[in-house]
Amino acid sequence: MRKIIVIGGGAAGMMAAIEAARNGAEVILYEKNEKLGKKLFITGKGRCNLTNACDMEDLQKSVMKNHKFLYSAFQNFNNWETIGFFEDLGLATKIERGNRVFPASDHSSDVIKALEQELKHQGVEVFLKTKVKNVIEQQNKVTGVTLENGKKVMADAVIVTTGGLSYQLTGSTGDGFRFAKALGHKVTELSPALVPMTVNEDWVPRLQGLSLRNVRVSIKNKKKVLYEEFGEMLFTHYGISGPLILSASSVVLEELKKENLRLKIDLKPALSEDQLDDRILRDFEQDKNKQFKNVLGNLLPAKMIPVVIELSGIPPEKKVNEINKKERRRLLETMKELSMTVNGVRGYEEAIITRGGVDVKEINPATMESKKKKDLYFAGEVLDVDAVTGGFNLQIAWSTAMAAARAASRE
Ligand SMILES: Cc1cc2nc3c(=O)[nH]c(=O)nc-3n(C[C@H](O)[C@H](O)[C@H](O)COP(=O)(O)OP(=O)(O)OC[C@H]3O[C@@H](n4cnc5c(N)ncnc54)[C@H](O)[C@@H]3O)c2cc1C
Repeated sequence: MRKIIVIGGGAAGMMAAIEAARNGAEVILYEKNEKLGKKLFITGKGRCNLTNACDMEDLQKSVMKNHKFLYSAFQNFNNWETIGFFEDLGLATKIERGNRVFPASDHSSDVIKALEQELKHQGVEVFLKTKVKNVIEQQNKVTGVTLENGKKVMADAVIVTTGGLSYQLTGSTGDGFRFAKALGHKVTELSPALVPMTVNEDWVPRLQGLSLRNVRVSIKNKKKVLYEEFGEMLFTHYGISGPLILSASSVVLEELKKENLRLKIDLKPALSEDQLDDRILRDFEQDKNKQFKNVLGNLLPAKMIPVVIELSGIPPEKKVNEINKKERRRLLETMKELSMTVNGVRGYEEAIITRGGVDVKEINPATMESKKKKDLYFAGEVLDVDAVTGGFNLQIAWSTAMAAARAASRE
């Protein structure tokens, strides 16, 4: 019987431990926290968007970095198999907008419960509050781990599922990157991803708390469009956040490291410029004797009005019937192209994931085994792979964990 140690009881670790045990291995799972799945608990705003019910092509397309590396892992355990896996554990699921899959109960705790019950059912030995200090290696082969208390535990294989660096309070403090480096692996440059952005403009903090739906956000580097999407975003005290911005951050991350980027918000994407001009004219006609500052209520959220007025350069007290065509044009441009300069992203404490990790060139994509050390496996966010939001990052964790567990438990 193969003895396998799994380091880290997050999404990938629990899945790997279950699958290895199902394949007949004796499995030990070490988790340094007092409970399993602390990060899983906060996923999807506490609802856990556990995968995405898309087709294979979209699954592959969702991966931002090293998508080819994941091809085999996705083929062998795809998103539909994830849904099947959880349904078999008794967890009913539902599909929402954008093919996002959630537990029917809307509680991430039910996903964790299902995994915990199966770990127990499969006889996995789970040690909580147990931190692994390092991985033991002998002659290019991994043979066990040393725990923080100094105890050495031997095994036939070790699967590292320690996560990345984001939301460190959940336990992901980068230990796996240290293990990998100590074992001769390259760890690529690490940075926060799926993360809010910071901007130069001082009018932005005044909009703190304002969330915009149905807007179009585009980000350009000079004339090159790097990102353009329609959806929801949010202003904060330091800049911008919300689904559109988090996704955008992952797309423009590398360019942003080199220089500031121009971001534009189309506040009225459903209207062409002509249609919006007609609309403004109609509103102005209705209220022609009112002051400019009092006529934008039908077009913009209240918090946005003073900012748009300021940026349009039209005096707020000016009578609407005195506003000329040129001024109206400036108002229109402000609404169609509200511009700001993105100068960076926030830190790991606000990042959904970590970009970078164990270099996948040194990992076998079919088995997740190290090409450098025998019987050493990596799965989940510790690897240099990441995807956009929508349940895809957890799918990466499930698929890579499955691949690692199946290979590690083979005699
Ligand atoms: C706020 C937030 C919301 C998210 N929402 C979603 C979502 O809805 N859908 C989605 O697909 N993705 C989501 N993600 C991303 C997703 O949570 C991660 O991609 C995923 O959890 C990675 O799984 P993992 O098992 O690799 O790492 P983790 O889940 O981080 O697990 C790693 C575990 O290893 C343990 N560990 C670390 N070092 C040691 C050590 N030395 N010894 C013992 N144990 C150790 C840690 O304590 C931790 O429990 C979200 C992330 C955040 C932060």
